[in-house]
Amino acid sequence: MKNDDIFEESKKYMPGGVNSPVRAFKDVSLNPPIIKKGQGTYIYDEEGNKYIDFVCSWGPMILGHCDEDVVNAIKHTSENSISFGATTKIEFELAKYICKTVDNVDMIRMVNSGTEATMSAIKLARGYTGKNKIIKFAGGYHGHFDGFLVDAGSGLMTEGIPGSAGVPEDSIKNTLIAEYNNISSVENIFKKYNDIAAVIVEPVAGNMGVIPGDKSFLMGLRELCDKYGTLLIFDEVMSGFRVAYKGAQSIYGIKPDLTTFAKIMGGGLPCGAYGGRREIMEKLSPMGPVYQAGTMSGNPIVMAAGLATLKKLHDNPEYYVHLEKLGSKLQNGIETIAKKKDIPVVFNRCGAMFTLFFNKNKEVKNYEDAKKCDTALFARYFEHMIKSGIYIAPSQFEAVFLNVKQTDEDIDKFIQAFNSFEI
Ligand SMILES: *Cc1c(COP(=O)(O)O)cnc(C)c1O
Repeated sequence: MKNDDIFEESKKYMPGGVNSPVRAFKDVSLNPPIIKKGQGTYIYDEEGNKYIDFVCSWGPMILGHCDEDVVNAIKHTSENSISFGATTKIEFELAKYICKTVDNVDMIRMVNSGTEATMSAIKLARGYTGKNKIIKFAGGYHGHFDGFLVDAGSGLMTEGIPGSAGVPEDSIKNTLIAEYNNISSVENIFKKYNDIAAVIVEPVAGNMGVIPGDKSFLMGLRELCDKYGTLLIFDEVMSGFRVAYKGAQSIYGIKPDLTTFAKIMGGGLPCGAYGGRREIMEKLSPMGPVYQAGTMSGNPIVMAAGLATLKKLHDNPEYYVHLEKLGSKLQNGIETIAKKKDIPVVFNRCGAMFTLFFNKNKEVKNYEDAKKCDTALFARYFEHMIKSGIYIAPSQFEAVFLNVKQTDEDIDKFIQAFNSFEI
């Protein structure tokens, strides 16, 4: 079957033909290729077209597709243990691994998605502090939990809808919105409200396109949270194990109270986790009064895939050197061409995640800046890239990802494709 035929057929049985909105390519007004197979740096569609994959399942496939150690871990584990809904040894092995890796995580709870991780972390913060309100940032995305669907980026921005239908006003009345990289916007909220349980932030934003947090901004958040008895939650679902092995918090040297994870930590299987200071985590049921549970949480196959991935990243520190080299080569290449051809772009990057913004500004520091992008130009760029065999995120407001299997040649192909793009 052709890609388009499968997509048409899918639309009969799944809303929009997809299980997550951005996959429908609505922003770029194209039909998506239907992906059949992935191997190393490549993915292949149902018609046999081959693409260099710069989406990497939106981050998780940092080892490239079907890495043999991850495949073996999944195969081996699934022969004896698919699911018990009971405690298994491999859960604590991955938990211990993450706690030993990420500096500010003493204890961790496994869940099944990034959304579950962030919504549970908020509940825990409320249970711990006895306060109700939360602060999030315009353009920040923390999953599809009602309380976060306020001025959210990513999928919602892609769809061009300001919020979401089905979210009662009551569910968002405790969510306060500040501006990213603008500490006085946060300070003003703290001065006005005294009931703030948590500030949740992507230390390196990835869901309004990539916008690294300024160090002074993130330090300012830490100070304000300390001053007002509020928990600081770093949402490292995307940045964790990606921008650095120990996460964005290791780059900035800032201590969040809680951290949320997903994506890379599950090696490509459905996953999530939240962790942090022991005294906070001990408020979770069965130890404490904050209830949170999951039939599939800590699933052995997921744990095995995650552990295989994290171990391989740990055992090969040169991977991060390689990723940085690829990233800076790509950035230099694109910026040089853009300058030569007079294409207005801002290239924001943190290690192995980046966004090429089609933006006339000098810099993109927050959601307001990001919204000034030329999305029509982006759509034409996207079409050109995918036709050139370069698979990137089909939206201006998403991150693009590198993986360790990629080579200089893959980066050269990206740069060449950009070079042949006529605006
Ligand atoms: C992807 C993402 C989420 C949501 O994770 P899901 O597994 O898709 O629910 C939350 N926060 C950030 C920063 C993300 O990038």
